Amino acid sequence: MTVYSGPVFDMAVDQFNVIADHLEIPCDERERILQPKRAITVSCPIHRDDGTISVFEGYRVQHLLTMGPTKGGTRFAPTVDIGEVAALAIWMSWKCALVGLPYGGAKGGVNVDVSQISKRELEALSRRYMQEMIPFVGPRTDVMAPDMGTNEQVMAWFMDTYSMYQGQTVTEIVTGKPVFSGGTLGRREATGRGVAHLARRVMDVLGIKPVGATAVIQGFGNVGSYAALVLHQLGLKVIAVSDHTGALHDAKGLDIPALMKHASTHGSIAGFSNELTFDPAEVLTLACDVLVPAALERTIDGGVAENLKCRVLAEGANGPTTPEADRVLEKRKEIFLIPDILCNSGGVVVSYFEWVQDLQQLFWEEEEVMRREYQILDRAFDHMLARSRADRIPHRTAAMAIGVEKVRAAKATRGLFP
Ligand code: GLU
Repeated sequence: MTVYSGPVFDMAVDQFNVIADHLEIPCDERERILQPKRAITVSCPIHRDDGTISVFEGYRVQHLLTMGPTKGGTRFAPTVDIGEVAALAIWMSWKCALVGLPYGGAKGGVNVDVSQISKRELEALSRRYMQEMIPFVGPRTDVMAPDMGTNEQVMAWFMDTYSMYQGQTVTEIVTGKPVFSGGTLGRREATGRGVAHLARRVMDVLGIKPVGATAVIQGFGNVGSYAALVLHQLGLKVIAVSDHTGALHDAKGLDIPALMKHASTHGSIAGFSNELTFDPAEVLTLACDVLVPAALERTIDGGVAENLKCRVLAEGANGPTTPEADRVLEKRKEIFLIPDILCNSGGVVVSYFEWVQDLQQLFWEEEEVMRREYQILDRAFDHMLARSRADRIPHRTAAMAIGVEKVRAAKATRGLFP
């Protein structure tokens, strides 16, 4: 038992133990690699619009300080707790190591339902959270980014709050900012683009032609919506989409650009169409070529895994598949898994580009951002596939083994202080 214990953290531990067994890491070394280095809990009081005061609990977990600064998003959601944030921080470490970024993993969050607070209250909460975090973060210490429930505007408030305390503009303190406030071109689209790019690569491997193939997307936030858009542009029919309000299904393919417009105006897919309404519980098990879970963690359990009818499982979300489901998928060789730490890594890859551009004050064209993003994803994909084939291990085990091995080697060469 640790302060982090709970279903999501326990899942990260279970996954790590599979890798540690595969790599034959001695027991006394395992805790050093897995245990988060720092965890911060803060209380964030804000004035409500009705004149009362509410206090929200905020967290930041910095898992790994060995590789350079820590890096990871900030989640604003009612499900957030310290264990979930710790698990997400650990996954960020394996993700950054797998794709070769000079970062350890971190994650932050505030337990809040953003649909229940006003824009002014969201600004107050964002600023207070960042202000409470100032002693623990910095451009060379820990660099925040968006995640579920946060966006470019929240990043701009984080950056402004930090900068006001420094007495100068410090754009490199967060990534995922608006382009005109030190953000990079291509960050908003980066995660979804990366998911679609890798799904496309797998379709090539499997001999599936994109035009006329089908896709299903669970979650229509930043990741799900841009993955859907790029798959749609590649010629796939996106036959179903769901979000927290419900689901839509159209065997002829949904009009994704129109749905994105609707979702950005209304905040969700609700109200887009009455005729196309569908049961969200059925979305994951629809027959399709590409399935993209892009919502919360642990949505694909053992039972769902038995019933999946996709050819490619492209994990846009972090941790959507439970270890029990992994054991089912191991037997279902007809499903090609692109594991989360690879599949959604386009986001942090372009965050890294944003940080580099901010540090250098030299900004790139969008084509340059995309070219370099795809180059990194392709290289990591090739490594994962080669490792999976060489060691005869599932794709997730291969991807995580590459990440864990790099972390282990860095810790071993730096040694133990003092
Ligand atoms: N929150 C995103 C993730 O889970 C992005 C992190 C980042 O850009 O630093 O990968």
